[in-house]
Amino acid sequence: MTPTAMTATQAGEFRAAGTDLSERRRSGVSKGPLIDISATSDTIGMHWDTDGSLRIGAFTTIGAIAADARLAAAYPGIAASAQGLATPQVRHFATLGGNLAQRSRCWYFRNPHIACLRKGGPDCPARSGNHLYHVAFDLGPCVAPHPSTMAMALLAYDAKVMTDQRSSLTIGALLGDGRNGGSDNALQPSEMIKSVALPSPLQGERALYKRAISRTHAEWPLVEVCARAVVKDGTFQFVRLAAGGIAPVPLRLAAAEAALQGKEASAANIASAAEQATAGAKPLPMTGYKLDLLKGVVRDLLEKIAE
Ligand SMILES: Cc1cc2nc3c(=O)[nH]c(=O)nc-3n(C[C@H](O)[C@H](O)[C@H](O)COP(=O)(O)OP(=O)(O)OC[C@H]3O[C@@H](n4cnc5c(N)ncnc54)[C@H](O)[C@@H]3O)c2cc1C
Repeated sequence: MTPTAMTATQAGEFRAAGTDLSERRRSGVSKGPLIDISATSDTIGMHWDTDGSLRIGAFTTIGAIAADARLAAAYPGIAASAQGLATPQVRHFATLGGNLAQRSRCWYFRNPHIACLRKGGPDCPARSGNHLYHVAFDLGPCVAPHPSTMAMALLAYDAKVMTDQRSSLTIGALLGDGRNGGSDNALQPSEMIKSVALPSPLQGERALYKRAISRTHAEWPLVEVCARAVVKDGTFQFVRLAAGGIAPVPLRLAAAEAALQGKEASAANIASAAEQATAGAKPLPMTGYKLDLLKGVVRDLLEKIAE
């Protein structure tokens, strides 16, 4: 069925490349009608504007984003995040829209025999159960971290998301504030992501991405960070830090950003700002280790950017 053939009464779950959806279909967590969606010329590929800003079609694959040299020069944090995500095989098929709208990786959510908030159940079994890979910023009531690496990277770049129903959503508006617990995003039923717009890069900015992961590849990160900064005359003129794997939505690390703004790019200032990365954290009994990972990743990225 094409998107244009869809009506409210025929609503079902969209399928782009199906790399997330097919697993949920196989296990029985996703049931009901599917709506196969595919690209038009407007919803795939890179669309550059004369001011240097970029709109990426939602049907562009993660692999194409990872491999685009012009994108990597202008938005190195986006390119590096795409390059670090999943496996070459997944990146080859997976779309940007599907990445943003993918469902939680929580093992309770993915188990068809266990009820949870995201499946309309009464509570979050991970909270009292095994939550080793879950949030360290407990915004409640669900404690699953948001799975989208691209959402985290796009948050660092103040990207806006265009859908067939709304013209400009921040990443925060797309995903919600994480306190609901019943959903992975704030899309309306039958609302389709069409593209993502990135503002022009800043003069002289550098950006890097790093993930801490429990095995060498083919795994969602325990913690991931995209860092952008402009260092001029030895001083941080601009700092932007976004982190994933730690909360029900990707988070800006505002206290760490503020700690460096206008400050000398010294090892001591970076170390002290990295300590601020965990401001507001509320770890679960099993997730305190993520705070050390977060501080370490932030420090490492900022030191490299300041070199
Ligand atoms: C081994 C492995 C490791 C992985 N590691 C990571 C990782 O580190 N980071 C990460 O971010 N992801 C990771 N992934 C997940 C992968 O990136 C996603 O499965 C993929 O991006 C989904 O894209 P898709 O096009 O296949 O979406 P689909 O599976 O087709 O759809 C996923 C969901 O999005 C909805 N959807 C799809 N397109 C749209 C649209 N345009 N508008 C609205 N809704 C839409 C669908 O209805 C469905 O609910 C990993 C996957 C695997 C298998």
